[in-house]
Amino acid sequence: MDLTNDINGQCICGAVRYRVQDNMAAFKLCYCSLCQKASGSAHVANAFTTPDQIKWLQGKDMLTSFDVPNSQVRRVFCRVCGTTLPFETQNGKFLVVPVGSLSRPPSSPVAAIAGWASRPAWYDTALGLIEETCTEERPAQ
Ligand SMILES: [Zn+2]
Ligand SMILES: [Zn+2]
Repeated sequence: MDLTNDINGQCICGAVRYRVQDNMAAFKLCYCSLCQKASGSAHVANAFTTPDQIKWLQGKDMLTSFDVPNSQVRRVFCRVCGTTLPFETQNGKFLVVPVGSLSRPPSSPVAAIAGWASRPAWYDTALGLIEETCTEERPAQ
């Protein structure tokens, strides 16, 4: 694996650490009801690559998984802190990386929104509230 173009990821408690190549084929948000359950929020934010692009650096034995029935989704999370972590689809074709577990965003921008019609009504309210009241700029990086 070429380590010059990689991104580190980890869970909240730090027990699990990994590294992926920054060559994601897709970066998608999904608002479907399953992804709302999985995230505990309005959507997931996942980047897609292939299983050979990840290196688990620490704590692979701390991972717990659950294969969602009738789906390619396998929930993988740290059994200490519950952070959602990268998973291989059940058919082994893709590696799905929860972008929030990465130390920086992938260089490929968000390229697709899925399940938009399933978004919760409160999400539209929140977007309106953001537009009306949130004026703080992101600090320079
Ligand atoms: Zn953890
Ligand atoms: Zn979904």
